[in-house]
Parts: sequence; C-alpha cells; structure tokens
Amino acid sequence: MTDRHHEWQALVQSWEAELGPETLTQARYRLRMRVLRFGLNLVTASVLAALWLFTGWAVALRDALQANASWVRTWLYILLLSALSGVLTFPLTWWFEFRVEQRLGMMRQSFWGWLLDQLKQGALSLLIQSLWLSGLYVVFRRWPDRWLLGVSLGVLLFLAVFYLLQPLFLRLRYKAEPFNDPELRAQLEDLFARAGVPFGGLAVLRVGEKTARATAALVPHGAGTRVVLFDTLLEALSPRAVVAVVAHELGHKVHRDMLKLMALFAVALIAALSVGYKVLVALGDWDGLEGPTDVATLPLLWLILAWLGAGLQILFNAFSRRQEFAADAYALTLTQDPEALEEAFRVLARLNKALPQPPLWVERLLDSHPSLARRVWALRQRAASVGSRGAGGG
Ligand SMILES: [Zn+2]
Repeated sequence: MTDRHHEWQALVQSWEAELGPETLTQARYRLRMRVLRFGLNLVTASVLAALWLFTGWAVALRDALQANASWVRTWLYILLLSALSGVLTFPLTWWFEFRVEQRLGMMRQSFWGWLLDQLKQGALSLLIQSLWLSGLYVVFRRWPDRWLLGVSLGVLLFLAVFYLLQPLFLRLRYKAEPFNDPELRAQLEDLFARAGVPFGGLAVLRVGEKTARATAALVPHGAGTRVVLFDTLLEALSPRAVVAVVAHELGHKVHRDMLKLMALFAVALIAALSVGYKVLVALGDWDGLEGPTDVATLPLLWLILAWLGAGLQILFNAFSRRQEFAADAYALTLTQDPEALEEAFRVLARLNKALPQPPLWVERLLDSHPSLARRVWALRQRAASVGSRGAGGG
C-alpha cells in the first residue's frame, strides 16, 4: 500500500463518515436502483418489441390505420404506439421516478401533483419524438438512396430544437421566483466578466416545493447567458459556494462542452440510425413487415436504438467525466477558492444522496460525473501543486 493509496482511502472514509450512516444507506439504495433501472430499460425495450411484433399487433394496427398511406397517418400510428408503450411502462416510471425518490426523502410532491407534471412533460416529449420519428420514415420512403443525408439533417434540426426548448422544459415543471440578493448578483456578474461571458440575467426556480434536488445551469438568453439557480441550491450553499458552482458551469460554457456533447450525440445518433436502417432492411420483411419504409417496424427500431444507446451511453459518460474535471479546474482557476468548491461538493453529495465513491464499474456504466471523492482529490492535488509552485516562485 502506497501513501497515496492510504490518503485516498482516508478521503473516501472521511466523506462517508461526514454523510452519516443514514444518508450513506440511502445513497447505497439509490445506487442499486440506478443499476436496476439501467438493466430494466433494456429488458423492457426487448419485451415491448416482442409484444408488438410476435403478437402481430404492430402489423394489425398498421393495417387498421393504413399507417403507410400518408405522413399524418404514419405520425398517428407512432403517436398511438408511443402512448401505449408509455402506459404499459408506467409502473416502472412510477417506481423509479416517484416511489424511489419518496423513499429517499427527496420527493416533496403528492402522487397526483407528480402525475400531472408527468403528463404535461410526457405530452410534450411525445409530440417531439413522434414528429421526428415520422420524419424519419418519410425520409426512408422519399429518399431510399440518399436517406443518410436526410436523416443527418433531421437529427441536427431535432437537436437544435431540443437545445432551444431546454429552458421551456424546466419552466414547465417549476415556477420562477425573484432573486433578491444584490451582493451575490454583483459577485456573479463580476465572475461572468472575468470569464468573458456576457451576463444574461439570473433566474431562480422554485423547485423546493417539489423536490430536494439542487443544481444550477446556464441557459442561452438573448445574446447573453442566463444563470438558472434552484432555490434548494441557494438554501443549502453559502454565497461563496454558489459562486463556485456557477464558476464550474462557466467552465462548461467557455469550453463549449454542450456543443461538443451535442456534436458527439449527433454523430452517434446518425451512426445508430444507419445500423437501424441496415437491420430493418435485413429483417424488415419478417412476418408481415414491409422493410424500412413500413412504420410497423417501429418496435424493432426502438429495440435497436435502446441497445445501441446503452452501449453509447458508456462512451458518452467517459467523455463527459473528462469535461467535468476540466470544468472543476476552470472554476478553481477563476475563483482561486478551493474551499468553496469543496463545500459545494460536500453539500450536493448530501442533498443528492450521492455515494462519495461508487464501485468503479458502476461509475463507468452510469455516471456522467466523476465520483465526488475523485473530484475533491483532483481539486486538492491541483490546489497543492499551484500552492507549491507559488511558494517556490515567491
Ligand atoms: Zn459540470
């Protein structure tokens, strides 16, 4: 055992001790549920595809609706099949998004309040998804030779719309409330100025009545960038730590991490759809199906996307964890305040019931963020090396 190894273990243990036995038990439970959900998603996608295809219902519904006759009928078919799948998988959604949160003490909504939000959000994503999926089948039909170009353009359009609608998704669920802390506001404006990012205002979302989760985000607003803070974050953190969190988000902004992730996502989605198309060509005339132009192949396409998506997620997470380390480093440089960053990590770990260090395979499989212990470790190493360099140079 090296000194570094001991030091690392001491760090993890001290963090676990700080969380306390109750929160630690909850964090372990949350971890088990996340792993379970990852596995169940794949199982569900497989069972649903089998259900629609082996019973012949996918084909029967297509014939009943004459779903390939026009794009509106295709869209209706997708809408119906998606809604039915949503209803069938509702018990899982309820378990993982309501019951588990409730057991963790993070859910502050009643079942009916939660259900209403779920329906609103579900309707919006159903609309967006069904529109782009029907667009996909239209492209497969109209441009059998050049579908890849059409699909690529479609994917880019879809991502652009999604990016622009992002603030709307938040607004749909949470109300905004005024921000009454001129001092913190001035500090944040100063931070933006030092980062060279135009300040586009500040919004606080009242999430505390619905969930205990806390986070911050930067969203495009006019020509500038707007800070969106959860009220839970403002309650839990000192102003110094809030500044550190926003500095971390500015790191993402300055590094253009969102754009890079979306570009990577676009490439991955286009690649996955290409594989999907090939499979639909190969298997698409099976038992009443009529190849890639037939919307009754949708369950098959979903299945392919679910399994490829799970594989790609692992790749994405690795990329994203590197971005998180880089944003932490940026925040440290910008604020010169390692204690504030550590405070933020510590409080967020407690609020979001995150294990300081989950098993490595879980982190690789599921986590878009490095473990909190590794983030603190990296932070301390960096602060120490900057400190010693400063001391040596005078
Ligand atoms: Zn981040």
